[in-house]
Amino acid sequence: MLKLSNIQTFYGNIRALKGVSMEISEGEIITLIGANGAGKTTTLMSVSGIAPPRFGEIHFMGEAIHTMSPDRIVSLGICHVPEGRRIFPYLTVMENLDMGAFLRNDKENIEKDMEYIFTLFPILADRRNQAGGTLSGGEQQMLAISRALMARPRLLMMDEPSLGLAPIIVRRIFDIIQQINIENKTTIFLVEQNANLALKVAHRGYVMENGRITLTDSAENLLSNEAVKKAYLGL
Ligand code: ATP
Repeated sequence: MLKLSNIQTFYGNIRALKGVSMEISEGEIITLIGANGAGKTTTLMSVSGIAPPRFGEIHFMGEAIHTMSPDRIVSLGICHVPEGRRIFPYLTVMENLDMGAFLRNDKENIEKDMEYIFTLFPILADRRNQAGGTLSGGEQQMLAISRALMARPRLLMMDEPSLGLAPIIVRRIFDIIQQINIENKTTIFLVEQNANLALKVAHRGYVMENGRITLTDSAENLLSNEAVKKAYLGL
């Protein structure tokens, strides 16, 4: 579904990605793990067109997307939930969800999807008329994920969904990530510092160090890999 071929992404003269290749098949949950500054966020921003690669190619469903604008990439069905959530603070929960659906024409299904989201995150139903900016951190993360789901993405990319959240909320969010993958067959590309958690929900994983992929394997094998355990699992 998604193929990154030897991409190099720069910030001015800084080469953040030094030739990254990855493949994600439809229906998979893939996680990209690595230390601070390894290039994980840059990888997602390269796919979504915010930080397009200077060299290399990215294909989605066989189509080259590395030269497309971010809005065109969204319209193909790629949604990016950035780190730090970024919901619309002055819009209500329902207005935020409506914004997620703005590219859709199937109005009759939008309401149904909103009801589905309220079953995933009942707290958002209780808060539907409250301004997004007044929600707790965990609720804002739920809203950010829900807003992306309203676009009915084929590929959902999430950057550090666990960041700054209480363990009980993190578990809920990771359960939902699995549920979305199973129920909607949404393909998920998950960037996480919490490698232990990410590898428990993912099918496969990639390890990134200093702008390069250094290891890839099934999530199960990565969880029992001695080098991964030592560097990323704190074991
Ligand atoms: P973290 O887990 O800390 O978020 P990361 O793996 O997501 O880290 P990136 O944010 O992709 O890493 O950063 C990769 C490298 O690119 C880092 O060295 C970072 O300092 C650099 N970088 C990121 N954004 C910019 C920017 N806007 N301008 C210059 N350098 C940047």
